Amino acid sequence: MSVSHFSPDQQDPLALRPEDCNRGHACQFCPQEDSCLLDKSHHEKRLLEQRLDGIGQIILVMANKGGVGKSTVTANLAAGLAQRGYRVGVADADIHGPNQSRFFNLVGQRVHLTPAGLGTRTCAHPALAHPIRVGSLAFLMDRDDTPIVWRDAYKHDFMHHLIGSFDWGELDVLLIDMPPGTGNELITLADLLEHQAVAALIATTPQEVALMDSLKAIRFCQERGLPLIGVVENMAGVTCPNCGEEFHLFPRAHLADALAQLEVNSIAQIPLSPQLALASDTGHPMLLEHPDSTEARAFAPAIDACIQHAHAASMEAAAQALEGVMDAAGAEFMAAMGTLPDTARDELTELLAREHDRLHKTPGQP
Ligand code: ADP
Repeated sequence: MSVSHFSPDQQDPLALRPEDCNRGHACQFCPQEDSCLLDKSHHEKRLLEQRLDGIGQIILVMANKGGVGKSTVTANLAAGLAQRGYRVGVADADIHGPNQSRFFNLVGQRVHLTPAGLGTRTCAHPALAHPIRVGSLAFLMDRDDTPIVWRDAYKHDFMHHLIGSFDWGELDVLLIDMPPGTGNELITLADLLEHQAVAALIATTPQEVALMDSLKAIRFCQERGLPLIGVVENMAGVTCPNCGEEFHLFPRAHLADALAQLEVNSIAQIPLSPQLALASDTGHPMLLEHPDSTEARAFAPAIDACIQHAHAASMEAAAQALEGVMDAAGAEFMAAMGTLPDTARDELTELLAREHDRLHKTPGQP
């Protein structure tokens, strides 16, 4: 791995803790790792907590099979969310095929080590208020064609670095492009993110073999209690370039039945489109370059579903926090209320009741 090191004398931007060096990257990247006497496990834990504190909603984009369009879906969802004004990050967890650098035209870029961590690479566009931040193993490799031959322990560590060592800053949404399957990387991340606002989204194609594998990913989420935003059906139809007629390459009846049985929603159907493939290959997400295209319109319901989920999850968390405060304060709170003048007490009671209703409201309700 090649990273340029910073000078240890530089001002550290992270809050100071006496037992910690406060650097924003894991010890593995530190020029002083060999001589350091501080508690390394404490450092890694603090690093992860700090990163996760700055991230609103995490979405794992999963597919149990390679080549079904998981990375395409991740990149275009990121573009769509960023286009709507959200601060978005994309973490490429696909260790053996980290493609997000290509999807955002960042091939060949390398990471710089700063006191705040490994710098993400960014995709800026005139349509975006905030550039999309991308973190990938591709930025750490000496060459783009180096194969990764790692045992599980290494992969486990990299999942920690991906979230903890990259400087994600403040994000509304972090999309994680997962490797195919329900193996080591997924379990590591599911454990790591257990108490965070995390949800999954499955990308699949309608063929029977892909469907069979997608159902395993869905079961994994259901068994782990990982909220599932829904399934994005990729390559769900194609328009004939000659006559303009739409047809389906693969029958989707089976997919619809299987999803209904598992009570999972299909949230978008993305067509098989040469333009979409070209946009990915050239690193210009279709949703940014052609926001009015058929492809962009096809992604819209999936973007809506992600926003709705994040909104509902944050309202639920706020409601629980409010209830927690009221429960914990209990008697003291009522006693304090009792000391207020009648009008102030009535106003405060009404305000709290309104806030409680607002936080428990289903998204979309007036
Ligand atoms: P995965 O991440 O599941 O391995 P990718 O997103 O990398 O899959 O997609 C594999 C290939 O298929 C890429 O070349 C991509 O551009 C192409 N592709 C994915 N979805 C579509 C689509 N809807 N239309 C055309 N090409 C697609």
